[in-house]
Amino acid sequence: MDKQAKDYLRNIPAVDEVLRFKKIGFLLEEYPRKLVVEAIREVLAKKREDILKNGVATLEEATISEEVGKRVEEKSEDSLKRVINATGVVIHTNLGRSLLPKSAISHLIEVAKYYNNLEFDLEMGKRGLRYSHVEPLLCELTGAEAAMVVNNNAGAVFLILNTLAYGKKVIVSRGELIEIGGSFRIPDVMKSSGAILVEVGTTNRTHIYDYENAIDEETALLLKVHMSNYKIVGFTKDVPLEELVELGKRYSIPVGEDLGSGNFIMLSKYGLEKEPTVQEVISAGVDVVSFSGDKLLGGPQAGIVLGKKKFIDKIKKNPINRALRIDKFTLAALESTLKLYRDEGLAIKEIPTLRLLTIPKKTLYMRARRLKNRLSKIGGLSVQIKEGISRVGGGALPIQTLPTFVVAIRPIGTSLVRFEERLRYGKPPIIGRIEGDEVLLDMRTVQDEDLPLIPKVISQSLD
Ligand SMILES: *Cc1c(COP(=O)(O)O)cnc(C)c1O
Repeated sequence: MDKQAKDYLRNIPAVDEVLRFKKIGFLLEEYPRKLVVEAIREVLAKKREDILKNGVATLEEATISEEVGKRVEEKSEDSLKRVINATGVVIHTNLGRSLLPKSAISHLIEVAKYYNNLEFDLEMGKRGLRYSHVEPLLCELTGAEAAMVVNNNAGAVFLILNTLAYGKKVIVSRGELIEIGGSFRIPDVMKSSGAILVEVGTTNRTHIYDYENAIDEETALLLKVHMSNYKIVGFTKDVPLEELVELGKRYSIPVGEDLGSGNFIMLSKYGLEKEPTVQEVISAGVDVVSFSGDKLLGGPQAGIVLGKKKFIDKIKKNPINRALRIDKFTLAALESTLKLYRDEGLAIKEIPTLRLLTIPKKTLYMRARRLKNRLSKIGGLSVQIKEGISRVGGGALPIQTLPTFVVAIRPIGTSLVRFEERLRYGKPPIIGRIEGDEVLLDMRTVQDEDLPLIPKVISQSLD
């Protein structure tokens, strides 16, 4: 090491010294001391590293103070934060799935702020059940006899299997042994629930006699799993729920369905692919059905279980229930979301997931125009409006394409990969997608409040 580097190393201030810097004093007034000290240690360690590598480093008070300030700010920023979803995927599992309706947001704030009757029966003046806040509503909306809710649909499926088929056999078609990502695979859930999977039929074709031939005295459940995130096309056959229900009745074996997304509105009326509604599944006579609260339903993360009272009562009594129980915020948001479904027009208008799926193309074009105008004031960019395709996401309507408009941005003189990365570091981060030599921002999932923020983040991503 040369003498100059040694001098630099010797001149690195001590942590205590830095703590006495005037600017650091201001930081200490605003942030916890522990955080500031940690930031100082990191900055000084980085200085040592730089000197060992390059022989020099800036050790001025102003520079060190500024670097410490920046680190303190980074450290105190929330890890879970708002992002701008410009991917065009409406139910994006990695970006938090569904946005809540306004009424659900104010309901959950009220419940967070005040004591509430979560498990208190106001009429009787004694202990009540948390399901009671949504059970009658769910029955009213779907025609089910009974209902309960848990943390998510994976939990709901687990609970159904564990309650109705522990140590017994469950018959499932080979065409429905799905993986939905995030390691949720039907055979694995089955194993951990204690149920024994009996596979019948083939990948593309399963007949009613396949189920019937597999039934024995150990059979506890006939299970259908909705093919939510893929399609099998061509020479195919699956057994309609009605036929399975009829078979179950004949052998006195309950029939269940994991519906995956679960929707209350006939989406085909709004130009989307046909998906079975929860009401249809109930009226087909299913004994238990479960689905997610935050996919097409557009509410909070939850697993909704509906069906015949006899089975729902059993599921409610399973002690594992306690480990999967829904919390008060979710329950508040779910109740408010469900209430909107009493009026279909209101649901489409007020539930963001449904609104985004049915947004007119013209609105998307106008939004693209507004953004393009704002961006044209920034140099170093080529900006164009293009037609594109949005996706439903959340493992729902896998082949549905939603025509949309995107704002296609090509940075001039900055690498595209670096530009896209800097968008992700923005405040707030913008998540778009790279296609060819452009970053595409899909207007379907960009909110009106996002629009003024996008040009700010983009211009900061260019320097
Ligand atoms: C999404 C999905 C699940 C899991 O639901 P979560 O609410 O994410 O736990 C289970 N089964 C199917 C068919 C699904 O599509």
